[in-house]
Amino acid sequence: MSRRLAPLISATDCLRNKVKDPRSRDSGNTVQSKEFPGGIVVITGANSPVGLRSMPVRYLFLDEVDAYPPDADSEGDPLTLAIQRTTTFARRKIFIVSTPTIKGLSRIEREFEETDQRYFFVPCPFCGHFQTLKWEGVHCDSNLGEVTYVCEACKGNIEEHHKTDMLRRGEWRATNQEKISEKVIGFHLNSLYSPVGWLSWNACLQNYEMAKDDEQLLKAWTNTTLGLTWEEKGDAPDWGVLFDRREKYRIGVVPKGGYILTAGVDVQNDRLELEIVAWGKNRESWSVDYRTIYGSPTSPEVWKKLSEIVNENFESEDGVSRKINMLAIDSGFSTQEVYAWVRTQSIHNIMAIKGIDSSLVPLNAPTKVDVNIRGRKITNGVRLWKIGVSILKSELYGWLKQTRSEDGSIPHGYLHFPEYNTEYFKQLTAEQLVTKIVKGYPKREWQKTRDRNEALDCRIYARAAAIALGIDRWTDQKWEQISGAKEKIENQNLPAKKSRPKIIKSRWIV
Ligand SMILES: [Zn+2]
Repeated sequence: MSRRLAPLISATDCLRNKVKDPRSRDSGNTVQSKEFPGGIVVITGANSPVGLRSMPVRYLFLDEVDAYPPDADSEGDPLTLAIQRTTTFARRKIFIVSTPTIKGLSRIEREFEETDQRYFFVPCPFCGHFQTLKWEGVHCDSNLGEVTYVCEACKGNIEEHHKTDMLRRGEWRATNQEKISEKVIGFHLNSLYSPVGWLSWNACLQNYEMAKDDEQLLKAWTNTTLGLTWEEKGDAPDWGVLFDRREKYRIGVVPKGGYILTAGVDVQNDRLELEIVAWGKNRESWSVDYRTIYGSPTSPEVWKKLSEIVNENFESEDGVSRKINMLAIDSGFSTQEVYAWVRTQSIHNIMAIKGIDSSLVPLNAPTKVDVNIRGRKITNGVRLWKIGVSILKSELYGWLKQTRSEDGSIPHGYLHFPEYNTEYFKQLTAEQLVTKIVKGYPKREWQKTRDRNEALDCRIYARAAAIALGIDRWTDQKWEQISGAKEKIENQNLPAKKSRPKIIKSRWIV
């Protein structure tokens, strides 16, 4: 934030003289707070309950609320904590901004629904009809090779260069008649409105073409380009179809194409269950083995066996022996026993996790959970990673429903299975996402359709471990390096930074 705020202050004439240079003595300024005549700006993180509690606030600006953690260090929803700071002011102003994420979980969507829902209406340059810009209107003329926007009234082909004038003549119109009020207003804008020279309709279409075959990319595109939430798919895949597509590779051996090993461990009162998964390019994965270690988590023998698996060498079809790169273990049950074992292991390949249904991201930054006798967090203690189980299950089910195309190409995220028994596949598909009405709002939640679902849990924990390693961001070059081709490649082509369209919501309380 200091990198954005400090340059803004020094570049703005009317602000520069009001905020003293932080290098001068008694400036009243630090990286996170700036004094000016009549007030102070304080910047804090959504993961800091101390920052969110520290002082009363009259003007509150909350940015990217859908990226906030589900709770601020276990002290509650950071959005609620921050808003509570404003209650002492009769004339307060709260401004909430975000790129939306997942339908039913998104904070900005929930807030926006309570507003008058203003959209920006722009006039057609041909017929003058006012309309909002929607994805359905973007049209690629295959003869001209040109991308235009088709007017919903006269069907005229609006060109990119028309946009400047349309934006100038546009107006915000409230669309939610039930919530029209002076106090709570909301704005929605997508990337199709980007001014000429920023993100063109052509670029939006190109980004779509790149994203459309990969659910993760398509979700990101929907959130950032259209400013819309992504609806998770939650119908359970058919276990029989998965059973029928089993492959004849050896259980316990890493198949060709799998270069990274992760494991997910589920803790039960009489056993540990774990799956070892190999990962390759484009999140393609192979189940290498599924094991059960019988015994109570209070028995040291159980943990000794788990440590042996951490040190095990797995044979690969390509001749290289591999170890588990990252193991994720659930700490929701037998928490103290799990922590005790994790303390004996390296933080570089073991992570203690806890599933959070409401998390908007698959993996949250870890928090330290070990405290000393004075209640301070211990630097080298156990770190707990909260994982978004709902998102991870939805991603998995999307992947499980994919099939190989006729030309034999493999879709992104495709899962391979060896000849496991039917029980494994029944457990893997043992939940479904259902919609319930809670306090008048639809709420999506996962429900078990069978008693046993350990295979599903193990798989999403193994996936969380793979995300923690960063495999989603690895380039082809990085995969080549890992696979053993040791060519050094400079100047990796990183994707350009995406624009961040936003749903904007402003709330006035007078
Ligand atoms: Zn028109």
